[in-house]
Amino acid sequence: MPSINENYLKLEKNYLFINIAKKVNAYKAAYPDADIIRMGIGDVTLPIAKCVVEAMKKGADEMGVKETFRGYEDSGAGYDFLREAVSGYYKSFGVEIKPEEIRINDGAKSDCGNIVDIFGDDNTVLITDPAYPVYVDTNLMNGRKVIYADSNEGNGFAAMPDDGVHADLIYLCSPNNPTGSAYNEQQIKAWIDYALKNKAIIIYDAAYEAFITEEGIPRSIFAVEGARKCAIEMCSLSKTAGFTGMRCGYTVIPDELTVTASDGSEVSVSQLWGRREGSKFNGVSYPVQCAAAAVFTDEGIRQTRENIAYYQENARIIASAMDELGIRYTGGKNSPYIWLKCPNGMGSWEFFDFLLEKANVVGTPGAGFGRNGEGWFRLTAFGDRERTKEAMQRLKDVLGK
Ligand code: PLP
Repeated sequence: MPSINENYLKLEKNYLFINIAKKVNAYKAAYPDADIIRMGIGDVTLPIAKCVVEAMKKGADEMGVKETFRGYEDSGAGYDFLREAVSGYYKSFGVEIKPEEIRINDGAKSDCGNIVDIFGDDNTVLITDPAYPVYVDTNLMNGRKVIYADSNEGNGFAAMPDDGVHADLIYLCSPNNPTGSAYNEQQIKAWIDYALKNKAIIIYDAAYEAFITEEGIPRSIFAVEGARKCAIEMCSLSKTAGFTGMRCGYTVIPDELTVTASDGSEVSVSQLWGRREGSKFNGVSYPVQCAAAAVFTDEGIRQTRENIAYYQENARIIASAMDELGIRYTGGKNSPYIWLKCPNGMGSWEFFDFLLEKANVVGTPGAGFGRNGEGWFRLTAFGDRERTKEAMQRLKDVLGK
């Protein structure tokens, strides 16, 4: 009989959204006529841009013709045409990334979770709390020591480094899921300085960069000085271009990023990751890569921006409802998430039940994202406009003075 990785037994029994689905399904079974509005899961709802769909169809057609058929992709790191397109996208906001420093993947979740493979289990991992659960779970699975940097009301849910604490790996997510807060340049610089001082590596999740609207909020950690020596960036087309069901993202590891092995030799992080991927990942399908490349054309950017603007308007509607109700919140400006303080001193799950029962609105309890999420709640702007308005009216009805 095989033994198991007992670290898995230390995890929460279910991933957060499975627990939410169970509660909602139980409610639906009891009240089949309830008109439930879902603002919980961070999944997009608008269709993919036309020019992106056309590019995918063209790629699929090529697969059906002998001359243009493609089997395994040689490098598994992504076709040159897509890596060049991503490099060009970075350039459009002033960041120089070489195509060879980019690897294409099937979404940021895979790389956020799998990157831990190349680091030793003796590392101390610093994660801002609350956080996207994948960072914590995947490190606990390997038995690593996880410590937390508190994001809370006092610091606007933007945790900053503590010079008295050492870490080897640091997870940052900006704009943040779940809190919607986004680091400005000085704040990112403070993290970079901390990482360099500790010889640590920052794993920077930029999955929501396309939602940034304010000046002074970098869209990439590599827009900030020093990052090339200490950071890995992960990004995704899921929220940028509605790819949650398509699956495509990219990871950037700068050439300069090295670590010292126990024998004193300098090891390239990019090579180590390439070695891991070479053995465990065979690349993203050709039609999906064709679609992804179309996202970065002028027309693709124009069309996908329309969808983002739609979600941003939803975020504005949610934020203004919170303003009207006098509820504190972060996010909504550079992010599709509104992170609100549960009214009347309610706990996260208490407010979840209250909203489900009284307003038939589903959100995500902040406690599911970490200790500092207790008493907070996440609503997403990824829904339909009219349903978003309807949900906010219901909130005003049940919470209005
Ligand atoms: N990172 C963050 C912060 C996210 O919120 C998500 C998805 O919700 C992901 C990564 C994963 O995105 P995907 O795997 O769809 O690219």
